[in-house]
Amino acid sequence: MTTTIDLVSYEDALASYDPVMGLEVHVELGTKTKMFCGCSTELGAEPNSQTCPTCLGMPGALPVVNATGVESAIKIGLALHCEIAEWCRFARKNYFYPDMPKNFQTSQYDEPIAFNGYLDVQLEDGEVFRVEIERAHMEEDTGKSLHVGGATGRIHGASHSLLDYNRAGIPLIEIVTKPIEGAGERAPEVAKAYVAELRELIKALGVSEARMEQGQMRCDVNLSLRPHGREKFGTRSETKNVNSLRSVERAARFEIQRHAAVLNSGGTIIQETRHFHEDTGSTTSGRVKEEAEDYRYFPEPDLVPVAPSREWVEELRAGLPEQPLARRNRLREEWDVNAHDMQSMLNAWAFDTLGGCIAGRGARHPPPAWGVCGCG
Ligand code: ADP
Ligand code: MG
Ligand code: ZN
Repeated sequence: MTTTIDLVSYEDALASYDPVMGLEVHVELGTKTKMFCGCSTELGAEPNSQTCPTCLGMPGALPVVNATGVESAIKIGLALHCEIAEWCRFARKNYFYPDMPKNFQTSQYDEPIAFNGYLDVQLEDGEVFRVEIERAHMEEDTGKSLHVGGATGRIHGASHSLLDYNRAGIPLIEIVTKPIEGAGERAPEVAKAYVAELRELIKALGVSEARMEQGQMRCDVNLSLRPHGREKFGTRSETKNVNSLRSVERAARFEIQRHAAVLNSGGTIIQETRHFHEDTGSTTSGRVKEEAEDYRYFPEPDLVPVAPSREWVEELRAGLPEQPLARRNRLREEWDVNAHDMQSMLNAWAFDTLGGCIAGRGARHPPPAWGVCGCG
C-alpha cells in the first residue's frame, strides 16, 4: 500500500522540529565459517550447499560458538571505546520466517558483549560530532528467499518461493547507537558520516570487507521529530536495510520531511518499519513494529556463556590499529594538504588501510602531492 503525502520542505521541517536518530548497523563478519557451525561462508556457492543440521535448525543439532566471531566482536567493541562484558550470554529471538529455519534467531538481548561506547565522525566542514554507542552484540544472519514467477521479484504476484540457507548462520555484529540528538539540520549528514566512519573502522580492523553493495553492511535508520524545546522524543519510524551511504542520508532526509508533514497536518506517526526506494528516494510502510515482548527472548540454553578473560581483551586492545579518523588527520599533516583537498583525494582515490593509494593498475604508494598521482 502506498499513500502519497505532500512533503514539507526540508527547511520548513527543521524550522519547527528537532530530529532524533538511532542507527542500527549490521556487519557480516569475514570469518571462514559460520557463527555456530563449521559450514563455509564463501559467497556464490550452489544454493544450500553450505548447510548442516545446525544451521538448518534440525531437532537435536547443537551449536558451538565461533571463537573468531567472538574475537571480532570484541575488537569492534574496543575500537568503539565500549566496555566489554566479563560474562554474557546469547539469547533466542523467537519469530517465524521461512528463511530462518530454527524459528528463532540466535542473538544477544540484555547481555551484549560490548556496550557504552562512542565513535567520533568528521563532517564535511571539518567539525567532529560524537555518536554514542549503546551496544554491539553478536547474532547470525538469516537465509535468503527468492520469489519466482512474478514481474518484480517480490512476493506479491510470485508463483512460488525458493530458499537458500547458505547465508543462514553467518556471523553478524549489530551496532546500535544511543539516540543521536542535537545534530539539527545536519542529522542526515551525521548519519552518512557515521556509517562511513564505521565502515572504515571495520575495514581497518580486518574483521569484514564491509561492502555495502553486497549487503555485508546494512543500516536501519530510526528517526523521530520533536517540536523545538520539547524534551520527550516523538514516535520513531525505522527504515530497514539501507545499503549505501548516499541512501542513508536520503532516507533520513525523506523521513524528516515525511514526519513533519504528518505532524503538521495533525496526524500521528505510527511506530513501524519502512522500506527505502532508491529510484524515488522515498520510503513506504512496512510492518507495524513488534515490541520486545513479542519475541519472547530467553537465554540460549544450548550455548555456554561467553566470558572473555581480561588478559585476552587487553591483548586485543593492544593490537588495535590506529583509528581511521586519527590516521586521516595524521596523513593530512604529513602530506601537508588542507581538509578540503584531503577530502577530494579521498573521494578521487582509494586508500588501503595503511594510507597508500591503490587506485588503478595495482599501484600502491602514498600520494606524493595533491593532484599529481597518476594512478587514477
Ligand atoms: P529495535 O529492536 O526496536 O530496533 P533498538 O533499541 O535495537 O530497538 O533500536 C532502536 C534505535 O533507535 C536505537 O538506536 C535507539 O537509540 C533509537 N531510538 C530509540 N527511540 C528513538 C526515538 N524516539 N527516535 C529516534 N530514535 C530512537
Ligand atoms: Mg531495529
Ligand atoms: Zn551449518
